[in-house]
Amino acid sequence: MAKETEKVVITTVHHRDVSAFFEALGLSEKLARAEVRCAVCARPITLENFKAVTNKSGKLLFCCNQEACMEGLSSCLMGDKA
Ligand SMILES: [Zn+2]
Repeated sequence: MAKETEKVVITTVHHRDVSAFFEALGLSEKLARAEVRCAVCARPITLENFKAVTNKSGKLLFCCNQEACMEGLSSCLMGDKA
């Protein structure tokens, strides 16, 4: 499969869909145990503070609802250091 040029796709998930979303990913248990972390500030993601998810090099990055984190997520996707 040809590797696509990495696209910056940040998906925001509506609050009422969040638990279904995590269930679909098989991550609802991790979410319940606070093992899903914001990729920017490393706070545990909860149903309340979850804001967005993106995919970077096949890895899912989650983002909480702090504005600084949403910005941080975008710049983390643009600049490719890691
Ligand atoms: Zn955060």
